[in-house]
Amino acid sequence: MKIFRSKGAAIATVATAGLFGAAALTFDVDIRMKDAWAKEAKPSASTGKWSPTKPNPSFDVYYPGTEALAPDEMRVIACGTGMPMPRLKQAAACFLIELGNGDKFIFDMGTGSMERIYALGIPLDYIDKVFLTHLHMDHMGDLQAFYMYGPQNNRSVPLRVWGPGGGGTRPEWGTKASLDHMQKTWAWMNGTLVGTIDMRSSSIEVTEYDWSKVNNVIYEHNGVVIKSIPAIHFEQSASLLLEWNGMTLAYMGDSLPNKWWIKHAHGADLAISECFLPPDLAAKKWSFTGQEALNAVTTIHATAAFFGKVMSMTKPKHAVAFHFQNDADTLPAVMNAVERTYDGPVDYAQDFMVWNVTKEGVRTRMAVPNHEAYPTPPLHEKKIATGGERYQTPDSVLAGWPDEFTGLANKIYANFNKKHGTDYKFKLKK
Ligand SMILES: [Zn+2]
Ligand SMILES: [Zn+2]
Repeated sequence: MKIFRSKGAAIATVATAGLFGAAALTFDVDIRMKDAWAKEAKPSASTGKWSPTKPNPSFDVYYPGTEALAPDEMRVIACGTGMPMPRLKQAAACFLIELGNGDKFIFDMGTGSMERIYALGIPLDYIDKVFLTHLHMDHMGDLQAFYMYGPQNNRSVPLRVWGPGGGGTRPEWGTKASLDHMQKTWAWMNGTLVGTIDMRSSSIEVTEYDWSKVNNVIYEHNGVVIKSIPAIHFEQSASLLLEWNGMTLAYMGDSLPNKWWIKHAHGADLAISECFLPPDLAAKKWSFTGQEALNAVTTIHATAAFFGKVMSMTKPKHAVAFHFQNDADTLPAVMNAVERTYDGPVDYAQDFMVWNVTKEGVRTRMAVPNHEAYPTPPLHEKKIATGGERYQTPDSVLAGWPDEFTGLANKIYANFNKKHGTDYKFKLKK
């Protein structure tokens, strides 16, 4: 698949067939050539640098779990690049950030994103820090799934969530209130699992940050600083800046262009920002009236033309446009609107797009997700008894158990114990 680019540096285009259909990504050749592997002579059998039975060093895809991050390197993976309208191809907003010092962060967790995170095979104990830009479903909808499935998938540490609150907004609209209600929603599920699995991660540590403050430090640990700046997206919405190792990742969830971003996200190493469809396309594709579409993309969200102008004013080293349906028939119009004003490096994101960020530049690839992911091994010893005595199903319900199945269950236990050298006993009651 070829993509025409009207302005800017030479651009190569890679088509990745298969998992993503005719998915395409672009990268800046100049930047890419700075990659260490590209400095070497092209591997070939004649140079002696390549063997058909050894790994090919020139893959343009990223296989999760196979590459060590350099100590000074940042890796960002798009786990959701789409819209509130659910679709198989794109989950809603979610980005996973991994740093060479071992830290990992999630920025937003929109609907559909959890399975993308799982498909990367990262132990959940490593990804317990979630930062929310605001409380729209397409930015936090899968937080409850991530929270509630954590104990079943070997996360044995509490989930930590940073989200907006304060700033003059009603307290009942804040992140603390929202997640307090969310935990109450899952009282039955939490309560009935006690004593059956390790439930230490069924608690949430919530830190509300004042979304109205500019360049507000909301996290500082292990050389990583995360700041918030206000967004223009109703109220109680923010954008995030992650600073580490002399590099800055700027992330705009939803916002109109704003002075705070223009000032503080200027020159970011990687600037990820919403980029809505142009209004005529939005009206056509979403079956919106003209007024509805114009309202959505110019008074609540940043349409592609806004994105382009913001990037041309802030000059990031590398820009990423997301939060639009990225299809063969929408992408050219989005690119056209963006590149009328912006001619710097830009990727039009899809789910599982990966950016390796160093001071030398940014390398863009597509990750190959594991469609058959299982829980990753736990990092900590499991403590099933934590949380109290095992929940007991009422006798009135257990009265329905057919006695002739007890023998079969005992046989299953005997076989398991024989095979594994254990001594487990079948007990329906605690
Ligand atoms: Zn929103
Ligand atoms: Zn949104």
